[in-house]
Amino acid sequence: MARVERTDGRSVIVVKIGSSSVTTDDGAVDQAVVAKLAREVAATRALGHDVVIVTSGAIAAGMPALLRSLQNAGKSDVTIERVEGGLRAASAIGQTSIMNGFEAALAEHDLLAGQVLLAPTDLMFRHRYLKSRGTLRALLDFGAVPIINENDAIADDEIRFGDNDRLAALVAHLIEATHLVLLTDTDGLFTADPRVDESASLIEEIVAIDAELEAAAGGARSAQSRGGMASKLAAAKIATWSGVEAVIAHAERESVVIDAVAGTSGVGTRFRARQGRLAARKLWIAFALPSKGRVTVDDGARRALTNGGKSLLPAGVTSVEGTFGPDDAVEIVDTAGVVFAKGQVRWSSDQLGAFAGSQTSALPPDLSDEVIHRDALVVLP
Ligand code: GLU
Repeated sequence: MARVERTDGRSVIVVKIGSSSVTTDDGAVDQAVVAKLAREVAATRALGHDVVIVTSGAIAAGMPALLRSLQNAGKSDVTIERVEGGLRAASAIGQTSIMNGFEAALAEHDLLAGQVLLAPTDLMFRHRYLKSRGTLRALLDFGAVPIINENDAIADDEIRFGDNDRLAALVAHLIEATHLVLLTDTDGLFTADPRVDESASLIEEIVAIDAELEAAAGGARSAQSRGGMASKLAAAKIATWSGVEAVIAHAERESVVIDAVAGTSGVGTRFRARQGRLAARKLWIAFALPSKGRVTVDDGARRALTNGGKSLLPAGVTSVEGTFGPDDAVEIVDTAGVVFAKGQVRWSSDQLGAFAGSQTSALPPDLSDEVIHRDALVVLP
């Protein structure tokens, strides 16, 4: 099947905007904010970049609208959260308002908006991953602006992206973006919480995200968004591991998207991309799959995994914690108790418990030689 021919090598920028920016306190879509973003999208496109928007706000816009409608119908006693599917239904109502806002704002610049609602399974399974990418690419090839949100209306509580910062980072990987711009209601990441500490100053560039930084960013949430700084940092980490530069910046800043892409100083907090790009499967294992257990390995196995790029064999395993089955993710721990890798196991915790330390020749024929294949293993920095 043909793609629309593109003669130019346009780069892709993913811009994420949160609920607290796109909706007002009473749940209306803040059309001034959406119009500003549309203006920036048009300007960024004019410079030769494509833009994908990831927006929240479905629930923030849907709840008040639904409440008002219930009240008008004399059903003030209904508590939306208590109704099975109530919140999901509210998101379906709010999502249309958000899309109407973007459609109208982009039309001012002769741009079409295309709604894409994603679930984790759309990025988890290779055929869905390729479908998702194909749709986004086709939209961009047609000159349209993809507007993405999590498919909240059908979201499964057990498996969901959880927050749109992470979704945006995974989309940046999917579409091979050069930049991820996380727009928020602060100027970026500060040395301390600027609301309580006057001496806090903006961190302009972060070369590598470490545990200290993650601890400093913990908490810091605003009322409406699920995100907060911790989730922005987690998203920035996914992006940088995907070879994508991430920028956290204030949604209200003029020309924020263009400046973020141009590398203008003071635009916000910039996270330098790592060299190379983690394969989609490894990215998913490292950042999206929850760990179901811990596998401790001896020094020889640690060296083989970290330096040799080898698979984990049962002989190197010294102990197992947790209950997991094949395809679950586990943390891999060294003899000092430090987590140094994460991987998707081929064995269950019971099997591993029974054959930890065994030579491959001693394994029953139905067990694979590798506990974790090297293609499903990520060594953490
Ligand atoms: N997908 C949710 C919504 O549109 C928001 C998730 C988030 O705030 O990150 O309401």
